[in-house]
Amino acid sequence: MLDAALLSDAKTLAYEVAPELRDQPLYIVDASVFDGLLSGQCDCLGWAADGVVTHYDFRSCIGDEWRGPGPIICLRSDEIIEEWPGEHFRVGVLNVLLHEISHVLPPASLPKNDCADLLDTPKIREWQRNKRVEAESLPSPEPGTPADWHGPQFVRVASHLWARSTLAGWNIPSFNLFGGACWYISQAPHFVAALLAEIVTMRTACFGEIVSRPPPEAFTELWGGCLNLYFNRKGNADHD
Ligand SMILES: [Zn+2]
Repeated sequence: MLDAALLSDAKTLAYEVAPELRDQPLYIVDASVFDGLLSGQCDCLGWAADGVVTHYDFRSCIGDEWRGPGPIICLRSDEIIEEWPGEHFRVGVLNVLLHEISHVLPPASLPKNDCADLLDTPKIREWQRNKRVEAESLPSPEPGTPADWHGPQFVRVASHLWARSTLAGWNIPSFNLFGGACWYISQAPHFVAALLAEIVTMRTACFGEIVSRPPPEAFTELWGGCLNLYFNRKGNADHD
């Protein structure tokens, strides 16, 4: 369970590394807030929703804290503590936070008001629940496909966020920054090195501006090499 102080630190960090998140409500919550709503079958340490669709069950769980549509970052503290036990728990939570924020940057454009309330009916809630169950049961997309949510843009954004947090003195390890299951891109410092010039020159830029520019060649080459590694190993495993 995340205490109020750690949740507050998490929000401070989020705003420090991505100031544009201040432009809309941002919900950073412990998984216990959504108890029972998700199957919990995945082995991820958190999840993020960009807020484009208001999930009415989530909004009900957030309760009085709801301020309108905005990204939701859910941190699964029970799982995080397994990977980051004891004194490592705090930086583990912040490490997962950087990963999850990377999924909601650049911020999506959201409805200005909650007129979607008109759609809050038991039928729509049931439809949304079914969609969530369906989404949770899908296998992870192949790396490098358009559906891959841990693709090059994600890696680029996460690298910027981690470097910004380090420059601001947060001291968060880069271990598993891109997700434990993404073994082929597990070497975060290599991506940070490939992006270093951009990270320095665009340290105050918003993420919309960063991702609108072509990434440095060294980054694209590194990403391509990682994809080759993935498909070569997969090919070998398929032939075993
Ligand atoms: Zn992820």
